[in-house]
Amino acid sequence: MSQSTFYEYVGNLHAHTPYSDGEGWHDQIAAAALLAGIDFVVITDHNIWVSGVEGYYGDEARGHVLLLTGEEIHDQRLDPQVNHFLVYGAEQELAQCAVNPQGLIDAVNAAGGLGFIAHPTDAALDRFNEPAIPWQAWPVERFTGLEIWNYMSGFKSVVKSLRDALRAAFQPEEVIVGPDPEALALWDRLLAEGRRVVGIGNADAHATTFRMGPLSHVIFPYDFLFNCVNTHILVNQPLTGNHERDKLAIYKALAQGNAFIGYDIPGDTRGFRFSANGQFGSATMGGTIRLGPGVTLQALAPARSHIKIISEGKVVAESTGRENLTYTAQQPGAYRAEVWKSYHGRERAWVLSNPIYVAHQSSTLR
Ligand SMILES: [Zn+2]
Ligand SMILES: [Zn+2]
Repeated sequence: MSQSTFYEYVGNLHAHTPYSDGEGWHDQIAAAALLAGIDFVVITDHNIWVSGVEGYYGDEARGHVLLLTGEEIHDQRLDPQVNHFLVYGAEQELAQCAVNPQGLIDAVNAAGGLGFIAHPTDAALDRFNEPAIPWQAWPVERFTGLEIWNYMSGFKSVVKSLRDALRAAFQPEEVIVGPDPEALALWDRLLAEGRRVVGIGNADAHATTFRMGPLSHVIFPYDFLFNCVNTHILVNQPLTGNHERDKLAIYKALAQGNAFIGYDIPGDTRGFRFSANGQFGSATMGGTIRLGPGVTLQALAPARSHIKIISEGKVVAESTGRENLTYTAQQPGAYRAEVWKSYHGRERAWVLSNPIYVAHQSSTLR
């Protein structure tokens, strides 16, 4: 992908309707996405691929949002029901493949789709008898990537008491700090093995009503969640307004990892960039570049913040109170950027880039 100009689009890739355990229908979710000002939303009901509802929703006054349908698949006979897998672009029902996780991944690939391990390190919510539903079916291969930040899963990991639950339900922005460190560690381990793993971040929106005694409150309504953790894609051509063409462009960017995760509560993350330049060309997030005498990595944040460049789980460069950070890589490997920003007295994860893959000089680029 050339470094020239990128068009950035913001989307959410994980939401539920009453076809599974969500509260809002497709048109209501599209309306919430419009309210939040995002560009696309993918509905991923549990074990059902709902067809016939895709397309642009909205009008002149509110603008338009592209609504797509994928699926979140798991084996419903398991207890607890672990191993959730997000599927995009397969354009067919694949829930019947859930019994064999690697078989499911291979079926998604054979159908031309993309697959992401959902909330891979999910924690239990003991107080409410919610079991942990992480991914347990290791080892698996050939999946597109990991859902590094699942906002609802993050909520579970911080809620240890009734008091926490109330605080999280009414003021989630105070409680949520970042993605699960274990999810980041898992990503870094897989990258260090030389794998290509795309990271995405999502709401996992259900608009569930939270009831406790006299309190009843819709926790995390869709429009709130679509303003929180989103996946931003970068494409070379603007989207066209044609739903089929735009769908292909969005899924291609996701497949390649031309994307970053943004948490917009501490500030608008649009405009973040992470790029590499060297003797043998340039690359953006998801891209590969040959090493040569050295490759200069540059992270550009939309505001002053705490920026880190990370490789194999180690911080190799860091800056505070600045909008940019550069680092010259001398070793091959996957390099990703994290940006943290102060909000309400605490540093919060703000942006997580996808990796740039720095390859040996002699290697054949994929
Ligand atoms: Zn799930
Ligand atoms: Zn879900």
